[in-house]
Amino acid sequence: MSLPDFTEFDPFNSLRARMGTDRLGFFELFEPTLHLTGIERSDLDQQGLSVARSDLRSLLDFTLVYKNSRVLIADGHNYHLAECDAMPLSEPLHIATSLAALAGASRVCQACLQKLQYQGYDAQKARKEGYSRQVLDSFSLTRFWSEFHKYPISEKRDIRKSLTKSVS
Ligand SMILES: [Zn+2]
Repeated sequence: MSLPDFTEFDPFNSLRARMGTDRLGFFELFEPTLHLTGIERSDLDQQGLSVARSDLRSLLDFTLVYKNSRVLIADGHNYHLAECDAMPLSEPLHIATSLAALAGASRVCQACLQKLQYQGYDAQKARKEGYSRQVLDSFSLTRFWSEFHKYPISEKRDIRKSLTKSVS
């Protein structure tokens, strides 16, 4: 069976002309369960969102994803970058993409730095104590986002897993 060549299909070509585009672009259909709306993106940046733990996923590098954005989780004074050993067990979780939207959480979680081995951070090695302290003290969220692409995260390319079930 041969498929029709839609680039030669007049109704589509005239439709494309009416849309004002002469290119065969790549369109990803908007799917609200997978893609953030503009409002959600803005909320993540400005005041954060409350979501169920089951709505979050982790990527193979352990960082956290909500729909198609990497996110942070607020946890008291700390915030998490990754699915670490100190993840909050409470529901719902307050997630955000900026410091301003983290509900007062201002310190990066050390267990996350350990999990990511961020910039060689390793608090378990005594000989690296000074260095690890320096990584912690100089941590910058802006720099983190430049190293871990924030948005968009492709649901096709980037393998993701459900968060480990909390131990109760
Ligand atoms: Zn953490």
